[in-house]
Amino acid sequence: MHNGKWSLDQIHDWLSAVKDPEIPVLNIHDMGILRSIDILGDELVVVAIAPTYSGCPAMNTIANDVRRILQSKGIPRVEVVESLQHPWTTDWLSAEAHEKLEAFGIAPPQIGSPDKTALFSKAVTVPCPQCKSRNTQLVSQFGSTACKALYRCSDCQEPFDYFKCLR
Ligand SMILES: [Zn+2]
Repeated sequence: MHNGKWSLDQIHDWLSAVKDPEIPVLNIHDMGILRSIDILGDELVVVAIAPTYSGCPAMNTIANDVRRILQSKGIPRVEVVESLQHPWTTDWLSAEAHEKLEAFGIAPPQIGSPDKTALFSKAVTVPCPQCKSRNTQLVSQFGSTACKALYRCSDCQEPFDYFKCLR
């Protein structure tokens, strides 16, 4: 789709500059939260984003960044809507996102591990992103943000964040 001014591909590209404020190595493509881009006429672009953790303050920041970046590219009106059709889960994180998280020192969500109760209840086994040891311990259900838990590796002694599973 193209309206003569901007193409979907271009907008898609521009939006890769929008990062998750809590995990700055991930952009909204990596997160899997960008649901759709609609070019309506010559003036308006509507971007649908799936909310992640409910009440996560990151969503406001992300919506503001989407508007700011697209407006800076000369799109006069940008609307950001929340797409509630399919609730976001950590399964939507791309394979690349998992690699980026690990390289950043955050253990990616364990695929197939317990559901949203992981936010509140018992710990899952999370391999250390530094040395890959599975000999790790939950230190706190809440790491640097509510979406992460704090773990410590019993082998290399390094503490690390775990991106909790949610679905
Ligand atoms: Zn380790």
